[in-house]
Amino acid sequence: MMEQLRTELSACRLCADRFAATATRHAPRPVVWFRPGARLLIASQAPGLRVHEAGTPFWDRSGTRLRDWLGLDEESFYDRSRVAIVPMAFCFPGYDAKNSDLPPPPICARVWRDRVLSELTDIRLTVLIGGAAMNWHLGRGPGVTERVRAWRDHAPDLFPLPHPSWRNTAWLKRNPWFGEEVLPALKSRVREVMEDA
Ligand code: SF4
Repeated sequence: MMEQLRTELSACRLCADRFAATATRHAPRPVVWFRPGARLLIASQAPGLRVHEAGTPFWDRSGTRLRDWLGLDEESFYDRSRVAIVPMAFCFPGYDAKNSDLPPPPICARVWRDRVLSELTDIRLTVLIGGAAMNWHLGRGPGVTERVRAWRDHAPDLFPLPHPSWRNTAWLKRNPWFGEEVLPALKSRVREVMEDA
């Protein structure tokens, strides 16, 4: 069942026209990264260009920072028997006029997200990365900073996080409580969930 879903999703070309109209004129390349039994769900935004080219999620500087936040080395982070990475859109959306990534096309979550998540029945910890994932999983609400600040409302089974992009380095400096309070609690919970067979 899940294998069929992974095959269908890998072949999805619903956004072909949309991506062809962006500056990079790329074709859809869904980055599919989940298997049965995963217990840590990383609900992320959408692949960037480097991830699009590599076909591996978080294969960029954001990934280095995210692994540091989670306390995971590459081997554990990319172990699909334990970690599922399910973005709000499975393909790189392209760049806007300011050279920032476009938002994930909403059609992707509408078509695929419930189907994928319904197959992941062993998830014990969900990490929400960025506003789109927060809105989808928690409902529309306050901005990312407020939601991350209210992390205790959801812990230990869910943690809202800012995007680990280098673009958020200033945010991290402005909000030292994130590194001091949230990350130690997150790392501790990740360790429990990853080690508990
Ligand atoms: S972003 Fe999602 S809906 Fe669009 S082509 Fe990729 S997999 Fe399909």
